[in-house]
Amino acid sequence: MKEIYDVIIIGGGPAGLNAAMILGRSRRKVLLFDSGKPRNRWSKSMNGFLSSDGVNPADFIRKGREELKKYNIQIVDHPVSDATYSKGTYVVEASEGHVYHSRKLILATGLKDTLPEVEGIEELYGLSVHHCPYCDGWESRDKAIAVYGKDRSGIGQALAMKNWSSDVTLYTDGTRKLNNKDMELLNLNEVKVCTDAIARVEGEEGMLQRIVLRNGETRPQEALFFSGETKQQSELGRQLGCEFTSKGVIRTRRLQQANIPGLYVAGDAARDMQLVIVAAAEGAKAGVAVNMELQQEDRVRP
Ligand SMILES: Cc1cc2nc3c(=O)[nH]c(=O)nc-3n(C[C@H](O)[C@H](O)[C@H](O)COP(=O)(O)OP(=O)(O)OC[C@H]3O[C@@H](n4cnc5c(N)ncnc54)[C@H](O)[C@@H]3O)c2cc1C
Repeated sequence: MKEIYDVIIIGGGPAGLNAAMILGRSRRKVLLFDSGKPRNRWSKSMNGFLSSDGVNPADFIRKGREELKKYNIQIVDHPVSDATYSKGTYVVEASEGHVYHSRKLILATGLKDTLPEVEGIEELYGLSVHHCPYCDGWESRDKAIAVYGKDRSGIGQALAMKNWSSDVTLYTDGTRKLNNKDMELLNLNEVKVCTDAIARVEGEEGMLQRIVLRNGETRPQEALFFSGETKQQSELGRQLGCEFTSKGVIRTRRLQQANIPGLYVAGDAARDMQLVIVAAAEGAKAGVAVNMELQQEDRVRP
C-alpha cells in the first residue's frame, strides 16, 4: 500500500513553512520538500516583518523549522524534480529518486532574480545593491543612491527613491532613450541622470563605494537599486499546467487556489506583493484552505 500524505508542500521558505505550521496544527499528515535556496539568501537582514525586523534570513528559516518540530512535519531537503496530478492524487518525484503521493499540493517555490550585467554587482547584492525599497530603503536613507535602469525602465524607481534620499541618480548605462518629457520630470524632482556606460561597481565588504564609468570617470555612490526581471524558481507550476499572469507569476484565487483541483500556490510564486510577511500570510491562507477542503471531503453525511 502506498503512503498518501494529506498535503505535500514544495518549498521551505516563509510561505511553505507557514503553510506547514497551519496544517501541522490541524493534525494533517504533511511532507515538505526544500532545496534550500530562499530568494533573500543574499541578504544579512530581513526587514519589515513585525517582531522579526532585521533578523538574519537564515536564522528566520532555522527558527521556523525548529517551531515545526512539535507538529510532526516531515521535511525532505531535496528538490522536487517532477509533479503530476491525476484523479485526485498528486505524484511528486524528488531528486533522490523517491516518489511520494498526496491528496493536495502546495507550491511555495518562490522566484529568482536577474541582476543587471555589471561587473562587481554580485559581490554587493543583498548588502548595498537591492531591488526592493520596502525591504532596504530605510537602511539606505539619506545615502547617495544610484538607480540602475536601461532605456526608460529606471524612471519610476528613481522617482520613488526620492522618498528615502534627496540624493538620487538614475544610471541608464549607455542607453539614451529618455525623452524631453522624462528629463523634465526627473529634473523637476531633482533626480540626477547619468547616461554614460558603466564599466563596473566597486565597494568593500559588500558596501558600494563608487560607480566607475567606461569613460574613466568615477562617481561616489553608497547604495544601488534596480528593478530586474524575475523568473519562477521552479518549472513545476508550468509542468502542472498552472495559469500564469503576464508578469510570470501563477494566477491564484482568494485563498491561493490555482486552476488545478487541490493545488494551491503561496508566496512569491503566486501573484501579490513580494514580501516575507505576505508570503508567510499566503502560506497560512493556503494551509487553512487546504484543511477546509479536506474536512469537506472527509465529512460523513447523513
Ligand atoms: C536580496 C533580497 C532581499 C530581500 N529582503 C527582503 C526583506 O528585507 N523583507 C521582505 O519582506 N522581503 C525581502 N525580500 C523578498 C523575500 O525574499 C521574498 O518575498 C520571500 O522570500 C518569499 O518567500 P517564498 O516562501 O515565497 O519564497 P522563497 O523564500 O524564495 O522560498 C522558496 C523555497 O522553495 C525552494 N524550492 C524552489 N524550487 C523547489 C523545488 N523544485 N523543490 C524543493 N524546493 C524548492 C527554494 O529552495 C526555497 O527555499 C528580499 C528579496 C531579495 C532577493
